[in-house]
Amino acid sequence: MATQLIFLGGPGSGKGTVASMLKNKKSYQHISTGDLLRAEIDKGSELGLKVKEIMASGALVSDDIVLQLLKDNCNLDLGRYIFDGFPRNIDQARSLDKVVLQDVKSLAIYFDIDLGILKDRLVNRRTCGDCGTIYNLVFKPPKKEGVCDKCGGTRLVHRKDDNEETVESRLKVFMSTISPIIEYYEKKGNLVKVDASGGSEDVFKKVCTIIED
Ligand code: AMP
Repeated sequence: MATQLIFLGGPGSGKGTVASMLKNKKSYQHISTGDLLRAEIDKGSELGLKVKEIMASGALVSDDIVLQLLKDNCNLDLGRYIFDGFPRNIDQARSLDKVVLQDVKSLAIYFDIDLGILKDRLVNRRTCGDCGTIYNLVFKPPKKEGVCDKCGGTRLVHRKDDNEETVESRLKVFMSTISPIIEYYEKKGNLVKVDASGGSEDVFKKVCTIIED
C-alpha cells in the first residue's frame, strides 16, 4: 500500500498549500482536520456550534472530536492520504497510528520555518471560498484584486482565526506541543524535515523529491 504522508508544521508554514498542490498534481487525498471542523461550523451542525468558540480562541478542540471526524472522513482504501493539521499532540500521534494507519507505511514531513515570520503570513492570508487556493495579500496576491486566479471565484475569505490575537495563541499552542510529536516520529524513524522558508513551488519541489513518486 502507498506511503501515507503526515504534514507537521506551524500554522501558516505552507502545509495546506503544498497538500493541495500534491492533491492536484500527484493525486493524493488531502484531509485537513481544520477544514473538516470549519465545514461543521459552516453547516451550523451541533458539532460546529460546540467547536466554534474554541477555534475562535486558537485553542485545540478535544481529541475525541477530531479523531472521530478523521475516522469518518478517511478511507485508506481510496489511496494515499496527506494528513494536514493532525496530529496536534502526542496522544493524537499515537491514535493516528493505532486507529487510522495501523500497520500502513507512513512518513512525517516537518515544515521547518522561522515561526517569527508566520504571524505576518497568517494575518494577510486569504483562501478562495470556491477552490481553496491560498493567497497572501503581500507575498502572493491574486492578479486581480478579490478574484481567484485559478477558478475566477470572488469569495477570497479571511479566516476568522487569522487575526493577530488568535494567531498569537495558535503559535503558542503550536510551540508548546510540537516537540514531543517530533520526538515521537524521530524515534519511529519516519521523520523528514523540509526547509519551508521558500515559496510554495520551491517547497513543493522539495517535498516531491522526498516522496519520489
Ligand atoms: P488549522 O486549519 O489546522 O490551522 O486548524 C484551525 C483550528 O482548528 C485550530 O486552531 C484548532 O482549534 C482546530 N484544530 C484543527 N485540527 C485540530 C486537531 N488535530 N486537534 C485539535 N484541534 C484542531
